[in-house]
Amino acid sequence: MYSPGNILSTNLKTGHSLNLPRTNCTPTKNCAHCCYGRIGHTCLPDATKKAAYVSEYLSGMDIARLVDECRQLTTVRLSGVGDLLTAHIPNILSLANQCPQTMFWGMTRKLPISYALQGVKNIRLMVSVDSSSPKKTWAYN
Ligand code: SF4
Repeated sequence: MYSPGNILSTNLKTGHSLNLPRTNCTPTKNCAHCCYGRIGHTCLPDATKKAAYVSEYLSGMDIARLVDECRQLTTVRLSGVGDLLTAHIPNILSLANQCPQTMFWGMTRKLPISYALQGVKNIRLMVSVDSSSPKKTWAYN
């Protein structure tokens, strides 16, 4: 059965990240057209296979490997590519709780994800918008 060497991915720009499938996204019209995940390394077969694994992993019961990886880091980006699912929320909260010295940061296009992760001291999640985002997203405070 496939298992990547590390759960986290790395790149020079954003450091360490959880890269997720673009199929997890709820893209706006603009976002679907301009998505940075459509081109480059993140859409190669190895990367999409790993992203599918990570999404499944975050929906599972045991995140010990990921906790070990994150504990050694000061920052980890949530959804370097793609977006979180509500099924990931329990493990993201558990991860933040088990890695109090690590700051988890990133973007989401989904208001329920943002609401679910509000108020956690080591999570900073921005709601990302563009000109084609729905009014309720623009109304988010
Ligand atoms: S939310 Fe981000 S990763 Fe998802 S489709 Fe939009 S630009 Fe791409």
